[in-house]
Amino acid sequence: WGVVALFQDISERWRFEQLQKDFVANVSHELKAPLSSIKGAGEILLDKVIVEPAKQDEYLKMIVEETDRLEDLVDDILILSELDANTSNYSRAKISVNDLLKKVSRIFRKIMDQENYSLQIILSEENIYIRESEEKLKQVLLNLLENAYKFSAGGSIELGVEYLKNELKFWVKDNGIGIPENELENIWERFYKVDKAHTPGKSGSGLGLSIVKQTIEDSGGRVFVESEYGNGSTFGFYLPLI
Ligand code: ADP
Repeated sequence: WGVVALFQDISERWRFEQLQKDFVANVSHELKAPLSSIKGAGEILLDKVIVEPAKQDEYLKMIVEETDRLEDLVDDILILSELDANTSNYSRAKISVNDLLKKVSRIFRKIMDQENYSLQIILSEENIYIRESEEKLKQVLLNLLENAYKFSAGGSIELGVEYLKNELKFWVKDNGIGIPENELENIWERFYKVDKAHTPGKSGSGLGLSIVKQTIEDSGGRVFVESEYGNGSTFGFYLPLI
């Protein structure tokens, strides 16, 4: 038994080291694109070949946008490392799920272009309370809403919560581009993006869903996705009521 245990231990360790290496390679890859855009734009401006102020502004705008991308990436990596180390300091409190949904929808309505999109919210019939971190649930729901917005060209997005027997079901539904069936199991992986080539700029770091999954599972819940390629997706999660 000792030998089996030792082998298991070694293979666990090997898997862990492999994951670490993949993670570093992926982070470096994601950092490269924005960094080279920033460097390129800076060099062009320094060369002073471009003299029209409007054109110069375009390059400056590019530098700011790409720096935003880097900031988002670093924020996501910090969230993941806190989740891995179990050091997130979210404090739980008694929260009303309907109030939570109303708050999240208010924040999201400010972010989205209200002319092309509409947001429906479906509240629970009963006024349910859970002991959870409001900040954490807000972050998870906003992550799903941002994806619904990013991967659809206008339309309606639905944010809902339903009280089931021993748990709560939260969901975000869109009528966007959908996901091919054979990709559905991959999308929760760190850095995974379905269509790397065709949606440049649309995709973020590919970390959002892995953060959602890990956060929800750490709270004893489980995530789900239903999607039809070309017709839209529903992402969500179940949280136990304790
Ligand atoms: P990101 O949005 O930063 O690319 P995520 O981890 O949030 O990363 O999502 C991973 C991938 O899953 C996305 O790149 C996209 O291909 C796919 N995806 C996520 N949400 C949706 C959605 N609502 N509709 C279609 N595809 C989606």
